[in-house]
Amino acid sequence: MTGIGTLSRVKSLWVTYYVTGCGGVELLPVITSRFDAERFGIIVSATPRQSDVLIVSGFLTTKTLRRIIRTYEQMPDPKYVVALGACTINGGIYWDSYATADKLEFYIPVDIYVAGCMPRPEAIFMGFGHLMGMIKQGKADGWKRYKERYEWYKKNQDKALGNSKKWRMRDV
Ligand code: SF4
Repeated sequence: MTGIGTLSRVKSLWVTYYVTGCGGVELLPVITSRFDAERFGIIVSATPRQSDVLIVSGFLTTKTLRRIIRTYEQMPDPKYVVALGACTINGGIYWDSYATADKLEFYIPVDIYVAGCMPRPEAIFMGFGHLMGMIKQGKADGWKRYKERYEWYKKNQDKALGNSKKWRMRDV
């Protein structure tokens, strides 16, 4: 049986949008009156420190990657990551660019991918539906994986970004 705490969390997901790529344009209709994400308890949070969900909406340059990692590490547990678009899965059309990191899941754990270039708002809502189901079942456990496999994530982060002491907040 799902506990009241879990049900409350599912019905009140506070979100930080990290708009990294062109796909961010589809998020505007999601949070405004056309699709009205707030109907489902999905609201935009003021800061990562009050957020449950991080949305990464496209390709990752090496510059934005370090901000994404810092944003993720500021969020309290339990926290979830939704990755939008082909670029977060395998680099998409930027897969061989010298300036991008091609797989988000190498650097922070991803709970849900919404495929497409760019996914429509309907697909984004479907992704959130899956995420809510996973939270209810206790399967949205990326935040635990980040702690358990931190050395692996850290190695990938250092490989992409160089000396971690210059930008890392602290070890988790
Ligand atoms: S998946 Fe498509 S829309 Fe999204 S950032 Fe990549 S190229 Fe842009």
